Amino acid sequence: MFETLSDRLTSVFSSLRAKGRLSDADIDATAREIRIALLEADVALPVVKDFVAHVKERARGAEVSQALNPAQQVVKIVNDELIAILGGETRRLRYAKNPPTVLMLAGLQGAGKTTLAGKLARWLREQGHVPLLVACDLQRPNAVQQLSVMAERAGAAVFAPEPGNGVGDPVEVARRSIEHATRQQHDVVIIDTAGRLGIDQELMRQAADIRDAVRPDEVLFVVDAMIGQDAVTTAQAFMDGVGFDGVVLTKLDGDARGGAALSVRHITGRPIMFASTGEKLEDFDAFHPDRMAGRILDMGDILTLIEQAQKTFDEAEAAKMASKLASGEGFTLDDFLEQMMMVRKMGPIKNLLGMMPGMGQMREQINQVDDKDLDRIAAIIRSMTPGERSEPKIIKGSRRERIARGSGVTVTEVNNLVIRFFEAQKMMKRMSQGMGIPGMPGGRR
Ligand code: GDP
Repeated sequence: MFETLSDRLTSVFSSLRAKGRLSDADIDATAREIRIALLEADVALPVVKDFVAHVKERARGAEVSQALNPAQQVVKIVNDELIAILGGETRRLRYAKNPPTVLMLAGLQGAGKTTLAGKLARWLREQGHVPLLVACDLQRPNAVQQLSVMAERAGAAVFAPEPGNGVGDPVEVARRSIEHATRQQHDVVIIDTAGRLGIDQELMRQAADIRDAVRPDEVLFVVDAMIGQDAVTTAQAFMDGVGFDGVVLTKLDGDARGGAALSVRHITGRPIMFASTGEKLEDFDAFHPDRMAGRILDMGDILTLIEQAQKTFDEAEAAKMASKLASGEGFTLDDFLEQMMMVRKMGPIKNLLGMMPGMGQMREQINQVDDKDLDRIAAIIRSMTPGERSEPKIIKGSRRERIARGSGVTVTEVNNLVIRFFEAQKMMKRMSQGMGIPGMPGGRR
């Protein structure tokens, strides 16, 4: 969803890469580019203004580590500011002291409320809750039916007016659902309310009446991220008409420019709590500002890695390591050893590997890494001849035995190391093709 914004920001950063230091003119030019990138992504003007002002101020103040190059400094500042406008910390759901916890969903028709009710129910059930879905959208002809389908898919119970009983009063349904939940020991109640195609008084009044009748622990404003600038107007109208505690962004899988995501928190002062990224119940999760910023800037936790690297060794060494990592060219066992020793100085290896972009799927292997293994590996490599280190393919039968004897390990351990090295080499290649490290020598773009 943020492709355009990502691309534009990345190109801003790469134009800075060659600079030794940033002049005021460079900062102004960069700020202008960032402004255009945000406006093109449909971010609301007041948000853009604030954002750019902060970036400028901080870039001028150069409060960031002097050891970072200008591009890295700007990446870091922009990243921090993105996290800030997205709300900083993850805002978790607040549960009532005395169950049931009541969640009320409000938003325009088509925003994705009913779908969200099912998603929330599934998500809550996974965490051991017993949710009840309540159908208070009695206007849209098949809304009750749609909610029942969602509930069934989520394995949750549903509370709805009896069919054939006329239309029913949504406020009354909401009130009775709380009694029902208490009797049936549901600890979370999710109330799906009616939406309209546009903002109108009647819609606001009904939502406000339901709110007053059930006193929800959380009113969640549900907004379709694809509606662009309208998201801000709608959010403001719901803020004034009903009030809400948190925002749920839906359809983040769409190809829109995503400005809503970046504006709504700043404009309403309410945190984004959840994000929906598809039509299936599992396309849903709690919203994490830092992860979202990372996705927009497309760089994993590379910033932390840069920072940690800096604490441990100088720029030249860091750049050398990064470029070897990024190119995957001529990667030998000597490099493997050298890297391992550098990395060893930076702290527990698990933490470092976890920060590399693209390492998410390798979590399990990473968890098995033990720092003592590294010392044994180092001993094995040191028992090899220079020829063997640069051409590990030649390490066969008798060579393996000799190396094992020399380093005091078994032949199997030598075998394993060679296999692991080839895997690492393959991974380097893959990284250099698919995901170089933006802002670093040899990186993508
Ligand atoms: P409601 O009127 O607010 O209850 O909205 P619905 O839950 O009926 O959703 C409207 C449409 O949007 C449906 O076709 C949903 O399948 C679809 N939808 C809901 N959430 C998402 C999402 O996160 N991504 C995508 N692509 N579609 C969604």
